[in-house]
Amino acid sequence: MSALVYLDYAATTPVDPRVAEAMSRHLTLDGIFANPASRSHMLGWQAEQVVESARRQVADAIGADPREIVWTSGATEADNLALTGFLRANRGRGRHLVTSVVEHKAVVDTAAALESEGYEVTWLTPGRDGRVTPEQLGEALRPDTVLVSLMAVNNELGCIHDLAALAEVAHAGGAAFHVDAAQAVGRIPLDVERLGIDLLSLSGHKLYGPKGIGALYVRRSPDLRLEALIHGGGHERGMRSGTLPTHQIAGMGEAIALTVAEGEADQARITALRDRLLAGLSDLDGIHRNTDLAVAVPNILNLAFEGVDGESLLMALRDVALSTGSACNSASVEPSYVLKGIGVPRSLALASLRFSFGRFTTEADIDQALASLHHALTGLRR
Ligand SMILES: *Cc1c(COP(=O)(O)O)cnc(C)c1O
Repeated sequence: MSALVYLDYAATTPVDPRVAEAMSRHLTLDGIFANPASRSHMLGWQAEQVVESARRQVADAIGADPREIVWTSGATEADNLALTGFLRANRGRGRHLVTSVVEHKAVVDTAAALESEGYEVTWLTPGRDGRVTPEQLGEALRPDTVLVSLMAVNNELGCIHDLAALAEVAHAGGAAFHVDAAQAVGRIPLDVERLGIDLLSLSGHKLYGPKGIGALYVRRSPDLRLEALIHGGGHERGMRSGTLPTHQIAGMGEAIALTVAEGEADQARITALRDRLLAGLSDLDGIHRNTDLAVAVPNILNLAFEGVDGESLLMALRDVALSTGSACNSASVEPSYVLKGIGVPRSLALASLRFSFGRFTTEADIDQALASLHHALTGLRR
């Protein structure tokens, strides 16, 4: 059997070797491994410098100031801190949050937990293209709405939200605007100033950095306060305690700088690979696109294969690593809540696969996946 083809970049990306090399300089005794909060020796100061230079790399990638970046363990924690931290700190102003039914579980489940704490949530249903419109958002806003949370790029569909227009509507209604941008860095232009974003979640392992590190951008503004969820030594200006993981942070800094620098070229190459996959499938019947190509990033493609069960198709595609929706719910037999959320019929949702491509995907990978798909589909449909 040939080697495994990895087409699950939206679940996680491999660490870029250049990033791994940068990380390796911050682990062992001969490296800069010390606690960045150690004030009493040179190694501590050096580690702090490493952390601060990575903080600048993250800030530069999104048009922010380094003082606006809070390190977290990933986008899940950043989403939790943005939603729960902001709503709790603004209890006095209102208790209403607006989000959508196709957000990542890190937002969906946090919003649901806030509901059970007594906050009110309006759950918007996007259109068939996976996007919430500014008009829809405008209708959902209330005098007591304090926060709107919508993702930049949907992790299952790849669709891109019109962030500038949505931010404008949120602000006109007096609400702050949070964006989960875990899938967006290097895939679409992201500038928090230009787009009017107040809070933005990032993840290292979606941009060729390590797992277990992420960041939350928090606009510097007197009315943007967060209540900490993790208490301890008061790190990160009191917003997130815990010893900073120097190697993870150095890796995320290097990874985000590379991803922004090379994103456009990567995406151009990936567009051709996605189109090669689509062209190679054009001789097969009963394939539906859940992804609306006109409004999506090229690196995520969600397809339904009529008449087959997605899980069985995955089993038959033993040399291709893919997901039937989001990796986070692939243990369950329920169809993807995102596909359900945009109105894909249950039978087609259960017949869907998400292809996601990345920096190391080759034409040979696509051709191998196509050969496997043809073989598996003819077998299952017979
Ligand atoms: C992967 C992902 C997350 C979770 O990020 P972690 O760093 O794994 O916690 C959140 N939101 C989106 C859109 C994602 O793709």
